[in-house]
Amino acid sequence: MNKIPSFEKNHDTLQPGLHLSTRIAGVTTYDLRFKKPNAGNYISDKALHSIEHMLATILRNGAYQDKIIYFGPMGCRTGFYLLTIDLSYIDVLSMLREAFTKSLSLTEVPGAKREECGNYLDHDLASAQTECRAYLDILQNIPEDEILLEQQKENHD
Ligand SMILES: [Zn+2]
Repeated sequence: MNKIPSFEKNHDTLQPGLHLSTRIAGVTTYDLRFKKPNAGNYISDKALHSIEHMLATILRNGAYQDKIIYFGPMGCRTGFYLLTIDLSYIDVLSMLREAFTKSLSLTEVPGAKREECGNYLDHDLASAQTECRAYLDILQNIPEDEILLEQQKENHD
């Protein structure tokens, strides 16, 4: 089988941040990398699951709700995927800064009732918010040159 694009990146050199991964058929995939890969520090199962519920809910209630195709966790627990249409890197960056700020003020995990979720006891709001706060800090400190590099990827496909 052919290697898929996300396996072709050298994960040992991937840094936490917001990376434009692919743009296929008008759908752009972003790599929301919370953790440096293979560095012994991963998002817990519960936090990963809760962040999925929290951000999917916030993004689908936000200004760009019609542009969000998917938000979900990476199996390696180092981050999340976000699939969008018709948004620039800068749009996504500011949308995510706002969304992660909002996530810190939630008082419960959305959709975490038994009838709403496939593993409803597997949630932890506090540890999810700890991860969200750390990622927001990453988003607020992406160096200008890195933003320019990510923006250049937009024009390549
Ligand atoms: Zn769930």
